[in-house]
Amino acid sequence: MKIFNTLSKRKEEFVPLEPGKVRMYVCGPTVYNYIHIGNARPMIVFDTVRRYFEYKGYEVNYVSNFTDVDDKIIKKAMEEGVDSEVISERYIEECKKDMAGMNVRPATTHPKATQEIPGMLEMIRTLIDKGHAYVAKDGTVYFRVSSFQEYGKLSHKNLDEMMSGFREIKVTGEENKENPSDFVLWKPKKEGEPSWSSPWCEGRPGWHIECSVMSKRYLGEQIDIHAGGEDLIFPHHENEIAQSEAANGKTFANYWMHNAFLNIDNRKMSKSLGNFFTVREISEKYDLQVLRFFMLSAHYRSPLNFSAELMEAAKNGLERILTAVDRLKDAARTAEDREMNARELAAADEVKTLVTKYEAAMDDDFNTADAIAALFELVKLSNSTLTGTDAKEFVAYMTETVEKLCDVLGIITGRRMESLEDAVEALIVERQAARKAKNFARADEIRSQLSDMGIILEDTREGVKWKRA
Ligand code: AMP
Ligand code: ZN
Repeated sequence: MKIFNTLSKRKEEFVPLEPGKVRMYVCGPTVYNYIHIGNARPMIVFDTVRRYFEYKGYEVNYVSNFTDVDDKIIKKAMEEGVDSEVISERYIEECKKDMAGMNVRPATTHPKATQEIPGMLEMIRTLIDKGHAYVAKDGTVYFRVSSFQEYGKLSHKNLDEMMSGFREIKVTGEENKENPSDFVLWKPKKEGEPSWSSPWCEGRPGWHIECSVMSKRYLGEQIDIHAGGEDLIFPHHENEIAQSEAANGKTFANYWMHNAFLNIDNRKMSKSLGNFFTVREISEKYDLQVLRFFMLSAHYRSPLNFSAELMEAAKNGLERILTAVDRLKDAARTAEDREMNARELAAADEVKTLVTKYEAAMDDDFNTADAIAALFELVKLSNSTLTGTDAKEFVAYMTETVEKLCDVLGIITGRRMESLEDAVEALIVERQAARKAKNFARADEIRSQLSDMGIILEDTREGVKWKRA
């Protein structure tokens, strides 16, 4: 498997720290509102990465945080006159509902920053002791960027250039810094803000320290993959590397993965620009499976422009796959207990070739766009091979393959089918009851309702059977 590593700017063969295991950390959202579909992109992309690793037989320890202490959360809490925790807990719950709708599986652990303060105090203490951090007059603790020689290695920035660039910028309130590029690890509280006591001042943590600490606590000092949107490369991930590697004296993450932006009219979708749709808004118009399929229709490192046309195309594409799965279920009902014939054997061989094609795409830095193309070829093959009198073995093999490849992409193949089946079964039961009660008018009405749904009933000796017209 090859992964594009932001650190080396090239695709590298994936070699795990521990054979058969993957430790990955994905920076999660700041919870002060509903998430927008830009935030959904890393969730969907890295959930798919996780699923593919599992498909390949890896055991994945997947950690993704919720940033629940932040200026924006505090501001919203003040506006509503409630504690910050009320706001963050509310939007964590809402975010989890959106994730479920998009079939993004819960992480192995979803740590929250406010629950990890002791670990942060400990890492800050270590950084001070090692000379990588200092306490300013007002009690703010800063990371001393000049003490970490490799600063800039992820974002490919030159430290000297950066230092001279920073020298030009004077930010009010930051005159206590030794150097303008230094960043905050701990800061004094302001009136009305949540705070914790520390050896330096009553205050709260800076944003970057959270992820270094949570990653260490739940995954260890060294991890395989650290991921997030590309806006996090600098300064967030650069700072995380500085903190973790300076404190632990070890390489922090071996592979750094970053998704490109979800744009709208070719500009980054963001809360601050106001050009966003929340996942919740999209869910009113589309099944969130469509949103997921739309996101995966592009490679994760390519910018993706959100549009109604592309969502419609995604909906139709998904429909094509789900319809093929429906047909396979129908075929299973009428399949024959016999050996595969020559046609089926040839098709089964082609299935193998398409699986290889799909895997090759995914092995090449998770190219979901090409993987979906292989999946489309597979459903086309399925549709053109099925006759209604197929060998059970062939139908089972095709069904299992389609479902497995769909599952890696997080496409739920059972859902629509189940809801249709449930509706049909319920109507059949009602029709039987009507007939028993000699209410033939109602029984006929149900038969014609089912016929409108494209369902044909057959009264057989073993009971009522149904099939699609
Ligand atoms: P935030 O809550 O802004 O920290 O964002 C949470 C995650 O969403 C981060 O990984 C961001 O990089 C990512 N993100 C935010 N906006 C976009 C966007 N328009 N496209 C892709 N990813 C984004
Ligand atoms: Zn982070």
